[in-house]
Amino acid sequence: MQPQNALLSATGTTIFTVMSALAVQHGAINLGQGFPDYEGPADVIQAAADALMDGRNQYPPLTGLPELREAVARANHRFYGLEIDPASEVVVTSGATEALIASLMAVLNPGDECVLLEPLYDTYLPVVRMLGAIPKLVRLQPPKWELPRAELAAAFGPKTKAILLNTPMNPAGKVFTAAELAFIADLVQRHDCYAICDEVYEHLTFDGWKHIPLMTLPGMRERCMRIGSAGKTFSLTGWKVGYITADRSLAPNVAKAHQLLTFTTAPNLQRGVAVGLAKDDAYFNGLSSELQARRDLLAKGLSDLGFGVLPTQGSYFITADFAPLGFKGDDIAFCRMITEEAKVTAIPVSVFYDGKDAPSHFARFAFCKREAVLEEALGRLRDWRAKRGTAPLAAAG
Ligand code: PMP
Ligand code: GLN
Repeated sequence: MQPQNALLSATGTTIFTVMSALAVQHGAINLGQGFPDYEGPADVIQAAADALMDGRNQYPPLTGLPELREAVARANHRFYGLEIDPASEVVVTSGATEALIASLMAVLNPGDECVLLEPLYDTYLPVVRMLGAIPKLVRLQPPKWELPRAELAAAFGPKTKAILLNTPMNPAGKVFTAAELAFIADLVQRHDCYAICDEVYEHLTFDGWKHIPLMTLPGMRERCMRIGSAGKTFSLTGWKVGYITADRSLAPNVAKAHQLLTFTTAPNLQRGVAVGLAKDDAYFNGLSSELQARRDLLAKGLSDLGFGVLPTQGSYFITADFAPLGFKGDDIAFCRMITEEAKVTAIPVSVFYDGKDAPSHFARFAFCKREAVLEEALGRLRDWRAKRGTAPLAAAG
């Protein structure tokens, strides 16, 4: 038989699926894959359920139901002051994953360079490569994850077509500052490029940190494809409804990519999301303050256990250094060990890197779980530590 597609053959099953399966196998609490174990808002779910019964179950329009596109445009204005035309500047997709792929497809030609920041979400690299583009990786360093300005500037050149920016950032929990965004905006304009902005955690920021879309910076409106996810904003990750806001000069290509990938997205879910985006400020404030309390609970628990807990300004995730526990193996061995022995699952952070010399002593823990579940996970980790004693932990076989 002839070889199949080389890039897909070389791409492994996503770590989120691998660790979730391992968690099920060992009866572990899954703090790996980032999904809430609580339900999204009842009125949003009710609106989607009602919409199934009202006889509008055929293909919705290619770029999304008008009511959802209008809701996305209004949300852009309400939260960020952006004036967006719902008819020509919004594309609804089946999840932010599709939105990312459609946005990359919209601008990249084979041979173009695309700047990416490590640690990075696992969809980015394989897709950039599948499109024949060349990833230019720039690495952020823990614990502060500050933008390395000189390296970033050096990564841009005559072949640069785009940068893919994720803020708030998975897995680092970093929210990019106004000064960092201004630096990026300047580079994008000087090199006449586009920015794909993965902003799925836009409403999940803590301690007064505010998400700033790159699209709101001077000169950036025409250059950005801004991506949101109903999965994150309404704690409904299984719905897979995403939305892209892009200037009318960019949106047609994004829509054509969506046309090739999925063409449309389930109409009842779109109607539920339209109801959600119109929810009052109390909903959005409550979303982040409840999540902040869960973050605090898990951060304190992990820190009491001896982990080096890095700050989280946004997202669902805490990055924790397990080296202080005395474990001698790498992060993959550590995450396997705690799944098998403590019955708690986390994600090894090295999978968010391309290079071989990725840091290998961090684990990512999701805190989008009920408080009792977080308490139970911490209790299990405490019992496991007590059983193991304080002697250095050997690498798991
Ligand atoms: N980008 C980032 C940074 C993510 O963490 C995720 C996962 N939730 C996605 C994109 C994909 O979002 P969706 O589930 O809406 O496809
Ligand atoms: N975004 C989620 C995470 O980072 C996972 C989504 C997925 O499993 N593809 O955990």
